Amino acid sequence: MTHPPSVDQLARSLKHHGLPHPILVEIARSAIASDQVGNIDALVNQRKRRLLMPVINATGVLLHTNLGRAPVGVEVEPRYSNLELNLETGQRGSRQQTIGDTLATLCGAEAAMVVNNCAGAVLLTLAALAAGKGVAVSRGEMVEIGGGFRIPDVMNQSGARLVEVGTTNRSRLSDFTTAYETNPDMAMVLKVHRSNYEIVGFTEDVSVEALTSVGVPVIADIGSGLLDAACPWLAGPPPIWLADEPAAKQTLEAGADLVLFSGDKLFGGPQAGIIAGSKELVQRCSSHPLARALRPGSLVMHALQSVAMSYLDRQGDEIPFWRMVATKQSDLVDRAERVANSTNDKVTAVETKAVPGGGTLPTVTFPSYGVTVEGDITSALRSNDRPIIARVEQNRTYVDLRTVDPNDDDELIQALMTASTSPTSKNPQSNDGASS
Ligand SMILES: *Cc1c(COP(=O)(O)O)cnc(C)c1O
Repeated sequence: MTHPPSVDQLARSLKHHGLPHPILVEIARSAIASDQVGNIDALVNQRKRRLLMPVINATGVLLHTNLGRAPVGVEVEPRYSNLELNLETGQRGSRQQTIGDTLATLCGAEAAMVVNNCAGAVLLTLAALAAGKGVAVSRGEMVEIGGGFRIPDVMNQSGARLVEVGTTNRSRLSDFTTAYETNPDMAMVLKVHRSNYEIVGFTEDVSVEALTSVGVPVIADIGSGLLDAACPWLAGPPPIWLADEPAAKQTLEAGADLVLFSGDKLFGGPQAGIIAGSKELVQRCSSHPLARALRPGSLVMHALQSVAMSYLDRQGDEIPFWRMVATKQSDLVDRAERVANSTNDKVTAVETKAVPGGGTLPTVTFPSYGVTVEGDITSALRSNDRPIIARVEQNRTYVDLRTVDPNDDDELIQALMTASTSPTSKNPQSNDGASS
């Protein structure tokens, strides 16, 4: 009778896979328990592919929530930073001040601060400025953003009281003024951008400008984080698809006391939530105890600062999101033809439609180009060393090049050659990921 191998021995024999010993021990233990020792290399590889790693986004969804929304990279040396030190005085400084000054310049605001995401920005603002008080929100803006982020629920968590105003399709200024008269404890009007849906037909909405006459601070959750409607960081004029998208700068100019937006949607940076506007209100937010619980670490601050500098230098090309948006379709056609010609005749060039994704601009598409292969080869593409994430529609696989870095084209060609000649996958899976 042969003894089962010892867990430790088996784990040691897997050392060449390059995973830490405790992880190999787990794999060895479960392989022995499930009688899969003969299959152990496959188990190790499965485990490796559950590690966080860079992937190639060939879905055409620019802000793909499953793929970390905006692509960001930041080179930070493993060094100390002046995160919370004022280098002039040598006194303790504030991380919010360091990054806040730059973000305030960027938004044309008196002051700004950063939390972990826009949901956190909404929560903190409500808690700091309206706990125990009323907050007016139009019934047409009682949104769910995705992942369970619902305005009424966040309101509850913050301790503020929701004052519903108007109807689903129509809210008027008089609805807000009446709400204030009947709710004298009202601390603010919260205007929430309908990022992921549209209301069309018989509709009426109150502008930020008009809301300023209600008599309480106006806080605008613009969500998607377009900085400036004029897009001065782009070489050309502002793209028409942005026409109805609220921008931080213009919303503040219209009289909003604060704007709140995401760092990783149209801003194109790391996951973060930015609060910008009145110095006094930002100060009240930053001194609330929740601010400490919601503050990002220095890696995020570095990445945000780097994106902010690109905007201020008007170098939209340095921001991957805007670079991908600005790529001409004719460039994508050229690349698609090269990819198709360098693989085999199963792979053909095809016109596609890319989308912003990330729960933003639900009706916008960008003319794009890519390649297509009959059958579902997404699983084979995912198994590339650097996983490639593609899309399947009606039993065809589509690779959209708008979201693929041109430097990755050669790797894509190699992977397509392998994947298009191996048997098609039995495991179809869609990857639209456009929701937030
Ligand atoms: C996306 C969005 C949020 C949530 O932003 P996160 O950064 O994902 O937390 C909040 N409000 C609006 C209007 C949004 O569009």
